[in-house]
Amino acid sequence: MASLLHPQLQLSRQYGRVFSVFNSQIHTGSGLAAKDHYKVLVLGGGSGGIAMAARLKRKVGAENVAIVEPSEMHYYQPIWTLVGAGAKSVASSGRSTSSVIPSGVTWVKSKVAEFDPEKNTVHTDCGKKISYDYLIVALGLELHYEKIKGLPEGFEHPKIGSNYSLKTVEKTWDALKSFKEGNALFTFPNTPVKCAGAPQKIMYLSDAFLRKTGKRSKANIIFNTSLPVLFGVKKYADALWEIVKKRDLNVNLRHNLIEVRADKQEALFENLDKPGETEVFKYEMLHVTPPMGPPAVLKGSLLDDAGGWLDVNKNTLQHKTYDNVFGIGDCTNLPTSKTAAAVAAQSAVLDRTVSRILKKQTPDKAYDGYTSCPLVTSYNTVILAEFDYDGQPLETFPVVDQSKESRVMYHMKADVMPHLYWHGLLKGIWGGPGPYRTMMHLGMK
Ligand SMILES: Cc1cc2nc3c(=O)[nH]c(=O)nc-3n(C[C@H](O)[C@H](O)[C@H](O)COP(=O)(O)OP(=O)(O)OC[C@H]3O[C@@H](n4cnc5c(N)ncnc54)[C@H](O)[C@@H]3O)c2cc1C
Repeated sequence: MASLLHPQLQLSRQYGRVFSVFNSQIHTGSGLAAKDHYKVLVLGGGSGGIAMAARLKRKVGAENVAIVEPSEMHYYQPIWTLVGAGAKSVASSGRSTSSVIPSGVTWVKSKVAEFDPEKNTVHTDCGKKISYDYLIVALGLELHYEKIKGLPEGFEHPKIGSNYSLKTVEKTWDALKSFKEGNALFTFPNTPVKCAGAPQKIMYLSDAFLRKTGKRSKANIIFNTSLPVLFGVKKYADALWEIVKKRDLNVNLRHNLIEVRADKQEALFENLDKPGETEVFKYEMLHVTPPMGPPAVLKGSLLDDAGGWLDVNKNTLQHKTYDNVFGIGDCTNLPTSKTAAAVAAQSAVLDRTVSRILKKQTPDKAYDGYTSCPLVTSYNTVILAEFDYDGQPLETFPVVDQSKESRVMYHMKADVMPHLYWHGLLKGIWGGPGPYRTMMHLGMK
């Protein structure tokens, strides 16, 4: 019998491998035709999106799941802290998106441009309309270097870098390597950020590098942060203040970077407690943590909250208005620190929530806000901060004091966690250390 398929699709079926149709925008690993409707549609193929696609394909079948993601490459961003300090290569942080899309799941290589949750539909930037039964929003957050006067063009000058972007992370290492004498300046913006520890981790690494290379006595190391505290959880903040004092690092609270004059190696800060008061800092090295915000496509849509973030229930991760919409990761308004570790814990809860809803049952598992930040304090030590929605420590390892610098935790950060990410989280089989914590604490946590 003659096939009813378009000849191009017949060919693709015949060869059963990655193929593309509709202006090369749709790719599938299954050899099946791309569709306009999916039972589960995932927006964003970063940490949360890939993890959820891997989990939900087991529930509904790979052919019923699609991911909308524009990038050719997927990056393990947490390792950029070590890339900026010259301890890892940038190449080690990336893999092709096609290699991380769960097999059989359709990859729509586009950007979502518009939401229409009343019609269970999204529109992509290439004019395609895709409908869904269930929508998972995992769009991450946006970096806003342009909100600082003089950036991003200032990055064309030497002595300035930023671990937050693929484009600028190696510039941090260049600035550190070429440091001669003067101020080494590190910033923290006046917005929510991902991995709130990263802006100061690079300061500790820089301090360690300058000591190792005999330049520390010529460096004045300064951390100018918009926050009123060094870190949000007291137990770890106390430990970090000790380190800061011991290593002669200068911390200025409530200092917000507003301008970079890269040609003169000057940075301008406003004092958030004294409106109108500004101060210029000369620098020999500047590490910028940019202002961040929700994805533009979410802002003003029917899915956002007043701040532009995806408006979800903090326990179930279900959207507060649309029952068939769910969120995970940095794009949500979950009141916890935005990290890949949080994404892992959220993925286990969201898996359970969606599974229950698929069976017409009510969600029964609540996310406790678990998040974690391996605070790298040198080239071989880490303080492993783990905490919940209330900023209370929620630590995995009993007996050890996790607020103490540890070599074992550094090894976890540098060598173990990348494996857990690529082979656990992205495969939908790592949902954070919750079950191990309970076991190791003999069921007490
Ligand atoms: C320097 C640095 C250090 C960090 N350190 C740590 C750490 O030590 N520990 C830790 O746990 N976490 C750390 N993080 C944070 C962690 O990487 C993020 O919290 C995590 O990746 C968030 O996952 P996500 O899925 O929400 O977003 P992402 O992984 O950023 O994915 C979002 C995806 O959405 C896609 N997208 C955007 N717009 C659209 C659109 N319109 N349409 C379709 N797709 C779109 C993007 O291309 C991207 O692939 C660090 C991050 C940085 C930058």
